[in-house]
Amino acid sequence: DLPPLPRMHMETGGGEQKLPVGLRRQQRRIVVTGGAGFVGSHLVDKLMARGDSVIVIDNFFTGRRENLAHHFGSPRFELIRHDVVDPILLEVDQIYHLACPASPYKTNVMGTLNMLGLAKRIGARFLLTSTSEVYGDPLEHPQKETYWGNVNPIGERSCYDEGKRTAETLAMDYHRGADVEVRIARIFNTYGPRMCIDDGRVVSNFVAQAIRKQPLTVYGDGKQTRSFQYVSDLVDGLISLMEGDYIGPFNLGNPGEFTMLELAQVVKETVDPSASIEFKPNTADDPHKRKPDITKAKALLNWEPKVSLREGLPLMVSDFRQRLLNG
Ligand code: NAD
Ligand code: UDP
Ligand code: UDP
Repeated sequence: DLPPLPRMHMETGGGEQKLPVGLRRQQRRIVVTGGAGFVGSHLVDKLMARGDSVIVIDNFFTGRRENLAHHFGSPRFELIRHDVVDPILLEVDQIYHLACPASPYKTNVMGTLNMLGLAKRIGARFLLTSTSEVYGDPLEHPQKETYWGNVNPIGERSCYDEGKRTAETLAMDYHRGADVEVRIARIFNTYGPRMCIDDGRVVSNFVAQAIRKQPLTVYGDGKQTRSFQYVSDLVDGLISLMEGDYIGPFNLGNPGEFTMLELAQVVKETVDPSASIEFKPNTADDPHKRKPDITKAKALLNWEPKVSLREGLPLMVSDFRQRLLNG
């Protein structure tokens, strides 16, 4: 094993304002796994803006270099193409662990294990981005963090649900057994600029369909609900959690609850009032409703979302228009 590096007092890079030593905030070295993805790249923007040194680990499974292109050349930024299923040696203070592909059991288990092993070796704080899917098709509504969930262990979506549940278990095990400082976020459906266009999520589907003048595909009767959070609110919550004193888990989501038919209506109003709706069969084990109880995050992290769906959607729509019409 490599010994941990001494905490370096790094200078900020060329062209940036340099404060006298006494006034400089200690610069942190931070790893963001999955940092080339949708949420990760926004998180990286915020960490870079406050002066931290950021290393992104990403295998570009769904992430894109373009999401980070504006940081290339900064002496505080590094991008490593690496699969977190393989071990890696680094020296950092904090690890935001977001890496997660679409069919993700191995990444959630092996990748989380490696990042926890890394955190243990170097004494870094570790944040896991878990998911509201750990609640499965919930029998409690809205969901509090104390709810244990209703998950089918052998269903089509269980490699995601159970993968994240296992990742939470590993994080708590490393916390109890190896004193790793862990933080757990349970993220509810999040949307915003840079979201994957074609990965089948409902907001990206509806927005892309409306822009392409295709019918919006509503699965099932469209009465199932979700709660949609704008990405900047999530990033604020992740940073508050990492910097705070509480392990969690914390629900990070917007309590505003919409049926898929209501969402289709908001997308129509925002993009194209003449868009039509087409009903399609729903997928197996689709949760009927989901809405976060965020009392705990409000009280302990002093966090709550600020951006409503009607405010956030236009910001995503302009990004999607640009990407769809230019490529
Ligand atoms: P995303 O697909 O845009 O980002 C995931 C990133 O991880 C991508 O850049 C991908 O290339 C990378 N990656 C995947 N497998 C990897 C591996 N084995 N090694 C290295 N990198 C790998 O997804 P996102 O929406 O930004 O999600 C980020 C995190 O938040 C994920 O852990 C996800 O489960 C969680 N989350 C997101 C939402 C949401 O609504 N967006 C909801 C709940 C939880
Ligand atoms: N690991 C890593 N980087 C490190 C330290 C550990 O990727 O800097 C990996 C290591 O290869 C192992 C996992 O993290 O696969 C768990 O490490 P830990 O030391 O907890 O477990 P052990 O190796 O003792 O089984
Ligand atoms: N959905 C839909 N049309 C689509 C894609 C999804 O009606 O084109 C529905 C899906 O059945 C589910 C909800 O939207 O009830 C949210 O799906 P998504 O995959 O975005 O998120 P998750 O199910 O993981 O919360």
